[in-house]
Amino acid sequence: MASPGAEPSIFSRIAAREIPATIVAETDHIIAFNDIAPQAPVHVVVTTKTEQYQNVGQLAAADPALLAELVAVAERVALEHCDGEYRLIFNTGASAGQTVFHVHAHVLGGVLEEGTLA
Ligand code: 5GP
Repeated sequence: MASPGAEPSIFSRIAAREIPATIVAETDHIIAFNDIAPQAPVHVVVTTKTEQYQNVGQLAAADPALLAELVAVAERVALEHCDGEYRLIFNTGASAGQTVFHVHAHVLGGVLEEGTLA
């Protein structure tokens, strides 16, 4: 859970249109946008519009339907942008590379062609 009174996360601010991003998909609860520092030819962040969960484990335990919705949006993005072939990565914890503590997945497509994450 985010601390009460904490500043909104960067992703909440993108969802609120306070910070610009290239939004590629959206539902009532989920938003997907291009990563600002892409690590693959297709690199889309898929996240919840609210930030009560910091990571995928918390989300899965508390709201599996919302996690399923997030994954369904990731699948739709991948079908549209990289023929449905992709890596889906959830970093959990700073030592695993998580920098934004608002649950999100990375959709990475075209990674083997570029050799970035093979
Ligand atoms: P993490 O490292 O937490 O798994 O992933 C956070 C991701 O958010 C990183 O890949 C980073 O490039 C991306 N990111 C951070 N700030 C912004 C931003 O302001 N706009 C966009 N579009 N992506 C961001």
